[in-house]
Amino acid sequence: MDYLPVSLRLQDAPVLLVGGGTVATRKARLLVAAGARLKVVAPDITDELGSLLKDNNGSWQQRVYQSDDVNGVDITVAATSNETVNKQVYQDCRADNIPVNVVDNPPLCTFIFPSIVDRSPLVFAISSGGTSPVLARLWRRKLEQMVPAGYGRLARWAGELRERVKEAIPEEDIRRGFWETIINGPVANLFLSGKENEAERLLTQQLEETGTQAVGEVYLVGAGPGDPDLMTFKAMRLLQAADVVLYDRLVAPAIVDMARRDAERIYVGKRRAEHSLPQDQINQLLLDLALSGKRVIRLKGGDPFIFGRGGEEIELLAQHGIPFQVVPGITAASGAACYAGIPLTHRDYAQSVRMLAGHTKQGKLNIDWSQCEAENETLVFYMGLLSLEEICRQLRAHGRRADTPVALVEKGTQPEQRVLTGTLENMAEVVKREEAHGPTLIIVGDVVSLAERGLAWFSGEQEGGA
Ligand code: SAH
Repeated sequence: MDYLPVSLRLQDAPVLLVGGGTVATRKARLLVAAGARLKVVAPDITDELGSLLKDNNGSWQQRVYQSDDVNGVDITVAATSNETVNKQVYQDCRADNIPVNVVDNPPLCTFIFPSIVDRSPLVFAISSGGTSPVLARLWRRKLEQMVPAGYGRLARWAGELRERVKEAIPEEDIRRGFWETIINGPVANLFLSGKENEAERLLTQQLEETGTQAVGEVYLVGAGPGDPDLMTFKAMRLLQAADVVLYDRLVAPAIVDMARRDAERIYVGKRRAEHSLPQDQINQLLLDLALSGKRVIRLKGGDPFIFGRGGEEIELLAQHGIPFQVVPGITAASGAACYAGIPLTHRDYAQSVRMLAGHTKQGKLNIDWSQCEAENETLVFYMGLLSLEEICRQLRAHGRRADTPVALVEKGTQPEQRVLTGTLENMAEVVKREEAHGPTLIIVGDVVSLAERGLAWFSGEQEGGA
């Protein structure tokens, strides 16, 4: 079962702490800082625990634990080295529905203390749910190094300004954008370097400017070919800033999941047969959302400007003066070829690459085959699965060798990636036999044979990957 991450403010709640050694003392420190009124039961306690109790209105029963100690407490923590006592505490608490933590004993816990990086009021909690303390400690160390010490002060300052900013910018989405600019920009830098007055002056100025701005922004972003790790930092940052996410089926669900939790998600479809939303309506939707002040991210599979109709989507925005940004992504040709171990160019085999669209318009391919004759050029067909047979036929008719190697990469870079290989002569049969499903990419040229000579490195999750 997963843990629910919560942050407790105890506000004078009665908390039972069983045990008085160094571990118990460490927990006592945390509990007291969160406002707990501690009741300690233990034959002995450390000096530090003694003074913690004295300073914070706590009490100490100098004896061993007994079951009625849990009466009337809100939370219990057991930190004794006696397993029988620990187990008894756990059972008593369970019987009374009292949340209980037996230190370093996950099966006897209904809640756990994550390890923390403390920049109060900003607190980072790290937990592996008891599975790997080493992993949790590693991340704790990383965060300690990553988060500047002044961040606590910055958070407090932001807290003091909250109301003022709220009044100046009532619109929630715009206000969020404002805070992001402040935290990521020169205002926070000035503040963290100790120039607090200057920071405040700059913030006031930006506050006035923002209060008058109402139009949103559109980010046309390439999300790569599927593996979420292939997104760019910029794509990630904008995804987490956006109020609305528009995506289609080529964008992996794991990527859409990385949007802000409260961001609106709109699926705009685009399966071959199932155009959920016609292109002009997508364009219009982007415009309308931006006009209403939203920051909209339009996620496209691969790269937005490669067979992505990205140009069409921003044309309307440009006409209406809506600010937009375009972020390149790893296109399917790069992603699928790399993960299949097929270098698209190679000194000995291919000096150039050509990307082609293999889909048909009214049953016809729109390709100038006379341009595809050169043996030392790799051809990459997007959207070519249905016309594979015709593609192979045309290439042979235009002088490509019948034994030219061909690869079909299905769901490239994804855990289910599959690579089928053949030649111009037999590829259509291979694909028919293996029942390929989209998205697939077809790569034609001698470079394909390199994968079979040991360059294929990625095997995904399933058997059968090349
Ligand atoms: N803008 C995208 C391409 C959109 S066209 C890009 O730059 O990658 C859609 C076609 O891309 C699909 O029909 C398929 O041919 C190809 N494609 C996209 N993702 C793919 C993947 N993970 N594996 C194989 N082909 C893919």
